[in-house]
Amino acid sequence: MLPSKAVVGATRVVPALNETQKRSQAARLGQAVPTLAAAYAQALARWMGDPVLRLAGLPIVTESYRSPERQDELYRQGRSKPGPVVTYKRGGESKHNVLPSRALDVAFLLADGSVSWSGLLLSKFARLVKAADARVRWGGDFPGDFKDRPHFEV
Ligand SMILES: [Zn+2]
Repeated sequence: MLPSKAVVGATRVVPALNETQKRSQAARLGQAVPTLAAAYAQALARWMGDPVLRLAGLPIVTESYRSPERQDELYRQGRSKPGPVVTYKRGGESKHNVLPSRALDVAFLLADGSVSWSGLLLSKFARLVKAADARVRWGGDFPGDFKDRPHFEV
């Protein structure tokens, strides 16, 4: 699914969401607890208000609530199934597994329509989220070797 694009200047394009993507973003954000959703929304507004950041990519919520069944499926990845380990939580153990969700995952839509999990962009966005609400914890700040940079939780 390609995003619609708005041309800025001669060469730069700003990624923008189409109507379907806007609805799914609103739905994912609506599944998150209000404090987390508000911090995300404020960080997003500040990101889009920054002429440099807004050209780097558009923050998107890739997931907020996640069923325990899907959590178990993710847990199997890198263990009984191929792929890298992406979680240490089994179904029911993650802050994604409650409704409203106490966690959400973020990525960036780039101008070429691809999705990025750039650690640099995520750390810049995390700064804005934490500034919006100090109660939000960023997965990139988790102690230990496993840094979950797309992840934000309360
Ligand atoms: Zn997460």
